[in-house]
Amino acid sequence: MIAMTEKQLHQFVLHARACLPEEACALLLGEQTEEGKFVWEVFLTENADHTNEHFTIPPQVQLKVIKYARTKGWSVLGNIHSHPETPARPSEEDKRLAVDRRMSYLIVSLADKTPVCKAFRAAEYNSEQEELRIVKEDT
Ligand SMILES: [Zn+2]
Repeated sequence: MIAMTEKQLHQFVLHARACLPEEACALLLGEQTEEGKFVWEVFLTENADHTNEHFTIPPQVQLKVIKYARTKGWSVLGNIHSHPETPARPSEEDKRLAVDRRMSYLIVSLADKTPVCKAFRAAEYNSEQEELRIVKEDT
């Protein structure tokens, strides 16, 4: 299970719309508990690929964000990226890159008027869906 607030999701959707027609991406920072993962901050990053088909968060950016998360006592729980024209399902490229079982991989589809967000976890080289809880208010 991974939980994030409506406000955080909205923040990413605004970023994703601003990045159109390219895919947008961000890292999810927060805490892992026995109940699941709790997102405390969505750290927006640049899509170094600048295309509408895939995304890359450069390793040096990831390192910087990991260090920032540590100063807060958090860790990187996963990432989130947008699919400008396709459903919220992992692409072949997404599956290839989603290899860390501890991480959550969230995808927001902008194909329809109302954005659709789904969470996945790497299961071998296939992804399985993970429970995503959108919490109404900030806690
Ligand atoms: Zn994708």
